[in-house]
Amino acid sequence: MVDKTKIPLPQPTPETAHFWAGTKNETLKLQRCDDCNNVYFPPRPFCPSCASRKVSVFDASGSATLYSYVINNRPHPAFDGPYSIAVVELEEGPRMMSNIINCPQTPEALELDMPLEVVFESMSEEISLPYFQPATSDSKSSDSRNQ
Ligand SMILES: [Zn+2]
Repeated sequence: MVDKTKIPLPQPTPETAHFWAGTKNETLKLQRCDDCNNVYFPPRPFCPSCASRKVSVFDASGSATLYSYVINNRPHPAFDGPYSIAVVELEEGPRMMSNIINCPQTPEALELDMPLEVVFESMSEEISLPYFQPATSDSKSSDSRNQ
């Protein structure tokens, strides 16, 4: 579904380098404040809740639920037909903007609170983007992308 050449890719910065190194290794990295235990995203060098700089990076489970979404019907050069722009709520708490893939892009298929799991699409040498798909019990396969 994705024309990789037409998606603007993020530029890793010192603050986000760990996150992009993580997605390249198919791991979702989050940060947790050592002082107040707040888990947050996007990456930054201090806690957004208490401003502490004692923060740690850890591996998220990759499990999430669908918090909200819109279906964009306007043509986008990188997508075939309508596509969802979703906000997913990670099991650890933070919310993240993403796309739901391997799923029909319809209100019938995209149910709020549906269980999701992260999948990674390699876009370039440096960048893999995290997407989400309906949770499957058996595999991490991301082969059926053409729905
Ligand atoms: Zn904190």
